[in-house]
Amino acid sequence: MNRGVSDGLSFLAEDLDGLATANLLREPRIADAAGSLVLCSNDYLGLASEPLAPRDIGAGAGASALVAGYTEAHAAAEIAIASWIGAEASLLFSSGYAANLGTVAALVGKGDLVVSDALNHASIIDGSRLSGATIRVFPHRDTASLEALLREQRGSFRRCLLVTESYFSMDGTLADLRELRRVASRYRAILMVDEAHALGVYGPSGRGRSAFEDVTPDIYVGTLGKSFGLQGAFVAGSSLLRLYLWNRARSFVFSTAPSPALAAAIPARLERVAGAEAERVALHQLSSHLRTVLRAEGAALLGEGPIIPWILGTPARALAVQEALRDRGLWVAGIRPPTVPSGLARVRITPTSKLESQRARIEAALREVARGVAQ
Ligand SMILES: *Cc1c(COP(=O)(O)O)cnc(C)c1O
Repeated sequence: MNRGVSDGLSFLAEDLDGLATANLLREPRIADAAGSLVLCSNDYLGLASEPLAPRDIGAGAGASALVAGYTEAHAAAEIAIASWIGAEASLLFSSGYAANLGTVAALVGKGDLVVSDALNHASIIDGSRLSGATIRVFPHRDTASLEALLREQRGSFRRCLLVTESYFSMDGTLADLRELRRVASRYRAILMVDEAHALGVYGPSGRGRSAFEDVTPDIYVGTLGKSFGLQGAFVAGSSLLRLYLWNRARSFVFSTAPSPALAAAIPARLERVAGAEAERVALHQLSSHLRTVLRAEGAALLGEGPIIPWILGTPARALAVQEALRDRGLWVAGIRPPTVPSGLARVRITPTSKLESQRARIEAALREVARGVAQ
């Protein structure tokens, strides 16, 4: 067995064989969705393919923000974001992964406590581990357990960070932000809310679940690669928080600043998202319609809104439904462990507002496949 790698790397083939046997192997596949309707992007408002006004501005920042990579375009984008969100300041990161990783690890460390919802995104989990703080995970959306945990343990730690997504990416569930705000204030915890999937989708002018619930998180994380249809992320909060992260968030300090061309695109795209009321209405109408169609065929769905997780159980079943839908022109993605817990493999359907006009075609394909599954 010489596949061209040294013996030291022989574990690679063994590991991958194990994944394949369990139907858990993910192979690079060019998204060849030509002729298909894409129902698995996070491009909720259909803006990713919308061209940007050409600007005579460099594509590369050339250095980290601290050194020479911070331009007027970055500063203007941060001010526009902050004033829209209603925060004092914001800071751009090159991705949501970098924003969460750097922010969590900068805020807490040894002797501190992170309390984290069980379904929080991998970037939050990785940031928490990297920080060296003690991590306590509370059951998904279970604020009573959270409060019991804090009552018992808060006193043993210096700082406490309570971190949650607002619209959970894999289950399509909503955090109870009012309750989390109350608990955070009561136990002197910093409330950090990752609005990745809610930004542009929920709240007045798409400002997210915290705006919808009229809750002010201490730290607001938004990503620009989802409904903004761009790339990158921001952390919004106080001016002091911004300056602190500028100095202490290692994923910010030791990384090239986001492209100036990207930064320059943000203010106009922000206006576009804020004004996309018709797209938001279409997105929510289409989502609730598809949920009704699937439920009528006996499909087990989770959550609410435009993230539609159709629970199928085993990876093999999730893959079979994925392929059956692709055969009918709907490009969807099966989601398997470790992204979701074992036994809860699913097909996650995420429409975009643009697909409202294709409603009949989508509905017919979903009905047909759901009937096949039910048998
Ligand atoms: C997608 C996502 C991220 C990561 O954002 P990127 O910009 O894609 O790195 C972080 N948090 C949540 C909840 C996400 O869904």
